[in-house]
Amino acid sequence: MPVFVESAHDARDTRINPAHLTALPRLAAPPPTEGDNYEVVVVGSGPAGILSSVLLARYGLASVLTVDSKPESVHAGQADGLQPRTLEVLQSLDLAHEVLTQGCQMHEVAFWNPTDGDGKGIERTAFVPDVAVAARYPHEVTIHQGRIERILNEDLEKHGNAVQRGWEVTKFQLEEGEGEFPVVVTMQKTGGDEKRVVRCKHLIGADGAHSTVRKGMGLSLEGDTTDHVWGVIDTVCTTTFPDIRKRCAIHSSAGSIMIIPRERISGGAVLTRIYCQMEDSPAADKVASKESRGKVTLERIMEQARRVLAPYTIEFGHVDWWAAYQIGQRVAPKFQMSDSKGVPRVHIAGDACHTHSPKAGQGMNVSMMDAYNLSWKLAHTLLGLAPSSILHTYESERHSIAEQLIAFDRSFSTLFSTPLTTTSHTTSGLTHDEFLRVFRTGGGFTSGCGIEYSGSTLVDTSVRGVVTDGLRESGLLWPGRRVMNVRTKRFADANPRDLQDDMPSTGVYRLLVLLPSAFRATPGDFAGLLTAYSADIPARFPQGAVETVIVFPGERGNLEWTDFPACVRAQGEWTVLGDHYGCVYGTFSVDVAKGAVAVVRPDGYVGVVAGLQEGGDGVVDGWLRGVLVGV
Ligand SMILES: Cc1cc2nc3c(=O)[nH]c(=O)nc-3n(C[C@H](O)[C@H](O)[C@H](O)COP(=O)(O)OP(=O)(O)OC[C@H]3O[C@@H](n4cnc5c(N)ncnc54)[C@H](O)[C@@H]3O)c2cc1C
Repeated sequence: MPVFVESAHDARDTRINPAHLTALPRLAAPPPTEGDNYEVVVVGSGPAGILSSVLLARYGLASVLTVDSKPESVHAGQADGLQPRTLEVLQSLDLAHEVLTQGCQMHEVAFWNPTDGDGKGIERTAFVPDVAVAARYPHEVTIHQGRIERILNEDLEKHGNAVQRGWEVTKFQLEEGEGEFPVVVTMQKTGGDEKRVVRCKHLIGADGAHSTVRKGMGLSLEGDTTDHVWGVIDTVCTTTFPDIRKRCAIHSSAGSIMIIPRERISGGAVLTRIYCQMEDSPAADKVASKESRGKVTLERIMEQARRVLAPYTIEFGHVDWWAAYQIGQRVAPKFQMSDSKGVPRVHIAGDACHTHSPKAGQGMNVSMMDAYNLSWKLAHTLLGLAPSSILHTYESERHSIAEQLIAFDRSFSTLFSTPLTTTSHTTSGLTHDEFLRVFRTGGGFTSGCGIEYSGSTLVDTSVRGVVTDGLRESGLLWPGRRVMNVRTKRFADANPRDLQDDMPSTGVYRLLVLLPSAFRATPGDFAGLLTAYSADIPARFPQGAVETVIVFPGERGNLEWTDFPACVRAQGEWTVLGDHYGCVYGTFSVDVAKGAVAVVRPDGYVGVVAGLQEGGDGVVDGWLRGVLVGV
């Protein structure tokens, strides 16, 4: 039976380190050798691939090979926006600091439309918050993709692994037999003849929109290729336009552009990204679209920006990066391929599964969240902690998100590409208010904070009575939704805490126990329940796989440490928290007179919510038995 071994020095880095894996050689750092066997091979080290590798390394998988056909990671350009949920996830890995301090935080969006009346110029019609839903980080951060990849690459190396660059996967096959490693992967040195054939238990195709792995699964991206061609430029500019340091959506009679304020680059200059919809959108067919895209030049992007911003002026200095692209909203019909026993063995993530326009700032985010969803399930399965059936929830959860992404992107792109014209802005049938409404209602989805996974082995939607059916976007404790951050104060040392920081991404389940107000008057009455949640239930599962976080209402007041049972005192010094700031129960919509218990999955999403008594009487134990092996 695998056991969790906690390092005395750094529990967060090495929480999952099961003994049985030491039987496998630590192969990852050296380049692939013919005939090597791996737990997982990751193809691609873009945002989806590198995050998968980081998580698998952190979860204790010693035998993971990550290959990328390119000699180095992205230097400039491509995706640049991190959404609030992605920031929460990076924070849960202690990787958010550089992003938050060095990136550009976008708190506000400015909307500009054709001047009322003659429509010859543009005027600001609204400032709105960039993030409209409850979030720990109520803003996006812009910083270029290469920097995120660098942060993740450094973390991977810190955890004893590294990307093997210059290896292109050319094909894979599922060869089932007696062996443990049924996926055969063939790769070739980029630009050379050298070949390697290795085997693995699981293959992750995070190899971008033209994914070889997806094609090997016999799948293609399906959906429309719309006929909007866009140009993007990362530049240092000088302008009289007053909102250049804000995210702006600008409709003018000369077309539409989007402005994204960016980070400072070396030398001290500040970047600005400008997305332009090019005026000569091609016809709907692919060939015409490609031809039209080919006509986009740097000078034409600049000229279009000048025309849309007029009468304001803009001068372009250093150009960091520019590109032309056509919007294609597509999604793969499946994200996994199973062996004959029904065990998913090949998984695709990121752009390999879905492509869409960059306007809603989703590229890096949805890709990384695919990896975040998949990696802990894969680790638990490989470590023998969970039945392989949990792997199926990767496709059911993330395919649905991809479909929502495509639907949202389609409506947002169409609105963005539809001209707003003069007086009352209704000539095209599109009003400014309609545009704002779509922007706002999409906020839960685009921020990542409003994502809700539907019912499955990992989300029990039936036990909800204890939570008021409040406003979904306010952060309530709800099966399928991530646990919203709330401020607490730790009982032991009066440290102000963010609840999410007490649930880092270490691959474990957490019982979040919200004690009722009666606990304050008669704590002894709750000793049995607290013992069940802190000791009895966790002891039925592999050591360290289930932790307990306890919240009591109100300030510390007259409560003493001895009011908690001995088992809580033994392990809970860091995880007994007071609702000192009075926001926990209200935010979660939990009746403070009743309390509640929730099981929080390793990725921070609520698996099940129950009343305190029913939770202790079997709901929590029963749910955990469906997703973890017992001891
Ligand atoms: C030119 C360009 C411009 C973009 N502009 C924007 C933008 O302005 N805004 C925005 O939000 N998004 C933009 N994107 C999209 C954004 O970069 C992606 O959504 C994001 O990078 C997806 O991450 P990923 O890890 O899924 O895939 P990718 O970042 O594409 O990473 C895939 C990796 O797999 C590697 N690979 C591919 N095939 C193989 C193989 N057979 N063997 C080994 N390695 C392989 C590649 O070298 C690459 O490193 C742009 C993308 C491109 C290509």
